[in-house]
Amino acid sequence: LAKSIGGGTWRFFAADMRPRASQTAQLESDLRGALSRQEFLLHYQPQIDLRSNRVVGAEALLRWQHPQHGLLAPDAFLGLAEETGLIVPINEWVLNEACRQGAAWRAEGLGDLRIAVNLSPIQFRREGVETLVREALRTSGMRPTSLELELTEGILLGYDKQIVTQMQSLRALGVTLSVDDFGTGYSSLSYIRSFPLHRLKIDRSFVQDLGSDPSALAIVRTIIDLGHILHLQVLAEGVEEESQLALLRSEGCDEVQGYYFSQPIPSEAFAVWLTQHGLGEAGGAPATEKEH
Ligand code: C2E
Ligand code: MG
Ligand code: MG
Ligand code: MG
Repeated sequence: LAKSIGGGTWRFFAADMRPRASQTAQLESDLRGALSRQEFLLHYQPQIDLRSNRVVGAEALLRWQHPQHGLLAPDAFLGLAEETGLIVPINEWVLNEACRQGAAWRAEGLGDLRIAVNLSPIQFRREGVETLVREALRTSGMRPTSLELELTEGILLGYDKQIVTQMQSLRALGVTLSVDDFGTGYSSLSYIRSFPLHRLKIDRSFVQDLGSDPSALAIVRTIIDLGHILHLQVLAEGVEEESQLALLRSEGCDEVQGYYFSQPIPSEAFAVWLTQHGLGEAGGAPATEKEH
């Protein structure tokens, strides 16, 4: 059995049902054919600016419509995709599809949304990543400034000239760069000032404990201050409750993302959601009173 999260997405196998080697082999063979069978899709989750209360972006999150297992979230197959190197062509598809969708939404008058794409460390370290991004922008007509690439702390671990060069070449294309799950890595904090970044994404584990654990609040506050001192925008992930939103607002957090506003949803549903909530005052939130 797999555990279901919202939206009919199957998340992970229960601990006592760890897939046997044969099942892993089967999944790997399924994964190899999944691209050509067009079984991948993207779900989108809104990102809301807390000053304007508007949706300013969407994170594209990978899903696999498996013929037998149903809709799979990344943790069911991302590890395998990385081990086998299949993540490279898969993430290439993600990048192209996200750019295509972003350009299409703009053409449909849904506004100039920033689309965020998660980059795998493996892919980031490859030489062709700049060409890949440039081509995705060119073929889609997506505005470079509307594309954000989310990197993990792992990618940035240890100051490495080659990584800086890689990031600078991406920045030269006009795209923005963020650090995902910030605070969970083996942070040597010195790296953040060495890299051409735009945004820190506070990991949702800190946001989850905001109301209950004073140290979580201290960490969140510290990340927001640190980000602002370094002229970075700060986005908090995993906002589920109004109280968390209120705290983040009063701490001066710039943007938020989480189930409180919307789960990641298919592109058609996202467009509908956006026309209902995203362009107006409320940013999808049931309550948006400003804090002082
Ligand atoms: P992430 O980039 O940190 O994405 C945020 C994850 O948190 C998503 O899980 C999202 O569904 C979930 N989330 C958002 N708001 C909430 C909330 O309020 N509460 C809770 N409990 N969860 C929330 P998802 O979609 O399962 O993705 C998991 C991870 O898989 C992502 O974490 C990212 O690291 C990776 N991933 C997703 N898509 C891609 C992709 O296209 N390429 C690569 N390389 N990795 C991807
Ligand atoms: Mg992400
Ligand atoms: Mg994250
Ligand atoms: Mg994550």
